[in-house]
Amino acid sequence: MKLAKQYDAVVVGAGPAGSTAARRLGQAGLRVLLLERKKVVGAGVQCAEFVPVIISQYTSLREDHIAQRIKGINTYVSGKLASCLKAPGYVLNRAPWEQAQAEAAEQAGVLVSRGARVTGIARNVVTIASGSRLWAVTADYILGCDGPRSLVSAAIGNEQQELCIALQYELALEKPTAYAAIYFEPAYYGGYAWVFPKGATANVGLAVHSTYKDKLRLLLTAFCRKLAEEKIVQEKPVLSVTGGPIPAGGLVNRLESGHMLLAGDAAGCTHPITGAGIMNAVVSGHLAARAVITNASSQGAQPLAENYTRAIKDQYGRQFAIACERLQRRTEEWTDNRAEFLALIRRSWIAFPEYYA
Ligand SMILES: Cc1cc2nc3c(=O)[nH]c(=O)nc-3n(C[C@H](O)[C@H](O)[C@H](O)COP(=O)(O)OP(=O)(O)OC[C@H]3O[C@@H](n4cnc5c(N)ncnc54)[C@H](O)[C@@H]3O)c2cc1C
Repeated sequence: MKLAKQYDAVVVGAGPAGSTAARRLGQAGLRVLLLERKKVVGAGVQCAEFVPVIISQYTSLREDHIAQRIKGINTYVSGKLASCLKAPGYVLNRAPWEQAQAEAAEQAGVLVSRGARVTGIARNVVTIASGSRLWAVTADYILGCDGPRSLVSAAIGNEQQELCIALQYELALEKPTAYAAIYFEPAYYGGYAWVFPKGATANVGLAVHSTYKDKLRLLLTAFCRKLAEEKIVQEKPVLSVTGGPIPAGGLVNRLESGHMLLAGDAAGCTHPITGAGIMNAVVSGHLAARAVITNASSQGAQPLAENYTRAIKDQYGRQFAIACERLQRRTEEWTDNRAEFLALIRRSWIAFPEYYA
């Protein structure tokens, strides 16, 4: 790796937010460094990979990036089908899609440095560990696209955002299906389980409130057994295991600080109720790049921080405020009573009209 001492912009993290932002900045002629701690972008996918079809308006999707087309989402509450929502989407092959996004940034002139972990940020100096070497570069703009436990967010002064915790197995499906499924049970405190089909297999996962972290493995094992008894999946072998934290608190307190901006999970752009964050990462990456380009091309006359904060709040402010309110009430009113539980989920899950009331 050969780095220059100075860049117009340094982007931390080559996930969907970072690669999107870096590509746009590169296309605008800025000198951009994109830093990714993984040696292979997209490796070790921590995701159920479902996105709405509208994402193709914001990112390039090749046919081999799509594992499966989805017609809708069925929601089950305490084992009973409670809603069939028309929701056209894709289950992605996320690893090659993410790699293609970083390559597109490279084609736009961005230097993508893989295996490069940002270890600190002080004003406009970014320190980087790569192998046994340490580097320091300066940048006019620093974009924090470094996920739910963001170092850039901490450098801005934000506290660690609220997270729920997920675990997921890939299992063989008994038969293919064009529908994703969501399962609410009183045992899944503060969260839900899912089956997202990927052709012959499915991402089968469970997310819960962080205080239930220790119960996650047992709950997912029991969920998989139940699905196997119902002849939906084969319980064994487990083809792959993943999981991780998902932001659940809405937008972080500060989205910017001077020359630093946050996007994607780092900014809390993940939907607090559904946990969907891929599309929002792409969109917020676009918005962050746009704010930087506008600020740079106007020589600072167009304010970076105000423009970006306004753009993000216009996009997500109201939607996330409702979601956070529903989530908080659901967590407080969580119950084992079947009838009350159904009513509670109807008020707090996006597939039901009561959610929007
Ligand atoms: C189990 C699970 C299932 C999910 N399922 C879905 C789903 O079906 N649909 C959906 O829309 N969303 C889903 N999500 C959420 C989704 O994965 C995220 O919202 C999305 O990945 C956010 O993209 P991002 O670019 O902001 O962050 P990330 O994808 O987290 O990318 C951040 C990148 O920054 C890198 N990085 C971090 N720190 C540093 C550092 N210090 N130096 C250099 N690089 C660094 C990381 O290695 C990573 O590559 C799921 C999440 C989990 C955990």
